[in-house]
Amino acid sequence: MYDAVVIGSGIAGAAAARVLAEEQGKRVLVLERRPHIGGNCYDQEDEYGILIHRYGPHIFHTGDEEVYAWLSRFTDWYAFGHEVVARVGEQLLPVPFNLNTLKLVYGEEKGEILAGKLTDIFGAGARVPILELRRQQDPEIQAIADFVYENIFLKYTMKQWGQKPEEIDPAVTGRVPVVISYDNRYFGDKYQGMPKDGYTSMFEKILGHPGIEVRRGRDAREVLKLKEKESRVYLEGAGFHGAVIYTGALDELFECRYGRLPYRSLRFDFEHYEIPDYQGHSVVNYTVSEDFTRITEFKHLTGQKAEGTTIVKEYPFAYRGGAGEIPYYAIMNEENFALYGKYAALAEKFPDFYLLGRLAEYKYYNIDAMAARAIALARSLA
Ligand code: FAD
Ligand code: UDP
Repeated sequence: MYDAVVIGSGIAGAAAARVLAEEQGKRVLVLERRPHIGGNCYDQEDEYGILIHRYGPHIFHTGDEEVYAWLSRFTDWYAFGHEVVARVGEQLLPVPFNLNTLKLVYGEEKGEILAGKLTDIFGAGARVPILELRRQQDPEIQAIADFVYENIFLKYTMKQWGQKPEEIDPAVTGRVPVVISYDNRYFGDKYQGMPKDGYTSMFEKILGHPGIEVRRGRDAREVLKLKEKESRVYLEGAGFHGAVIYTGALDELFECRYGRLPYRSLRFDFEHYEIPDYQGHSVVNYTVSEDFTRITEFKHLTGQKAEGTTIVKEYPFAYRGGAGEIPYYAIMNEENFALYGKYAALAEKFPDFYLLGRLAEYKYYNIDAMAARAIALARSLA
C-alpha cells in the first residue's frame, strides 16, 4: 500500500512527505497524533476570530533562496520586518540590543561616542554574542556588556532555561546578539514574514498531493512497531520494507528506557481584550520582571484587522512528560547529547529508518533550516 511512512506533520514531516510523493512518485502515509497538521507552526482562529499561533509565535525568516522558493509554491507572504522590544522598568528597549538601544540607555551624546567605539572594535553591522562582548577588556565596553547582560539576558534566560546565560549552550544566546547597527529588526534575514493565509493553509497545500495520505489523531506507536530482535518495522502487523521518517521524540520511541530526554516546556496563557490594541508591538519581552518571558499580540504579527485583540503570555517550565506537556526546547549539553546518543544507537539498527526534526534530532531548528534538512533527506532517499 505505502512506499514510505512519515511520523509527524510538522514542517519536517510535511516537507519530507511532499518531496517523496512529488519527486519520487512514492505513496506516503503521514501519521499525526494531534487532531491537526502543522506541528508547532499550527495556527487557527480563536473564538473571537483572531488568528493565533497555538504553540507560540512563529515568524518565518530565511536567507536561503531555495527554501524560500520551495515554500513560496504553497503560500504567498505577508512580508514585514519583525521587531521586538524589552520592557525594562518604564522603558521599551529594542531587542536585539543595537545602536538605537544604546542611545536610549546612554542618551544621544554619550551614545554616539560609544556607538563609534563599538563600530571601531567590531565593524559596522557586526553581530556580537553577549558572552563575547563580556570578554572585552575596555571598561566602557564592559559597562555596556554588563548592562545588556543584566537587563536583557540574565532574568529572561533564567526564566526560559532555569540557568544563567553562561551555563547554557552559547549558540542559544548567540541567536540574539548585540547588533552594531541601527536596524531594529529581530532577525537579519533577507526574507521575513508570515504565510499570507496562515501556516495551516500552507501545510494543507504542502500535504495536498495525491500521493500523500494523512491520518490525524493517530499516534504512530499504535500502528507502527519496532521489533528490535528482528531489526524490522511492522506497519499494522505486517513487515514494512519502505523508508520510515520519524519526527517525534526519540526517547518515546523506546519507552524512555534510559530515562527521559530533558526538555524545556511552555505554558501558553491566551487572553482576549475588546480593545483595538493591547501593547502596540507584536512581541514585548519581559527581561527583568514577571514570571512569563514575553507577550505576543497576534494581530501585529499577522496584520489582521479586527476590533478586539488576543495576546499570549509564555511561562517556561521543566518538561516531565506529564499528560498534555509538550517538549519544546532540547537542552543542549554533553550529558543530554550522550543520553540522546544511546537512543540514536537503538534507532540505527533499523534499516531505512531516519530521524528528522527538532525532536527526533534533539536540536534547535528554525522553520527554514528544518525545511531545508527535510527536503535534503527526502531527496537522498530517491
Ligand atoms: P514539530 O513542529 O514539533 O512537529 C512534530 C510533529 O510530530 C507534531 O505535530 C507531533 O504531534 C508529531 N508527533 C510526535 N510524535 C508522534 C507520534 N508518536 N505519532 C504521531 N505523531 C507524532 N522557528 C522559526 O523559524 N521562527 C519562529 O519564530 C519560531 N518560533 C518558535 C517558537 C516556539 C515557542 C517554539 C517552541 C519553536 C519556534 N520555532 C520557530 C521553531 C519551529 O517550531 C520548529 O523549527 C519546527 O516546528 C520544527 O518542526 P518539526 O516538524 O521538527 O517539529
Ligand atoms: N534571550 C534573552 N533575552 C531576550 C531574548 C533572548 O535572554 O530578550 C536569550 C534567551 O536565553 C533565549 C535565547 O536568547 O532562550 C534565544 O532567543 P530566541 O528569541 O532566539 O528564542 P526562541 O524563542 O526563538 O527559541
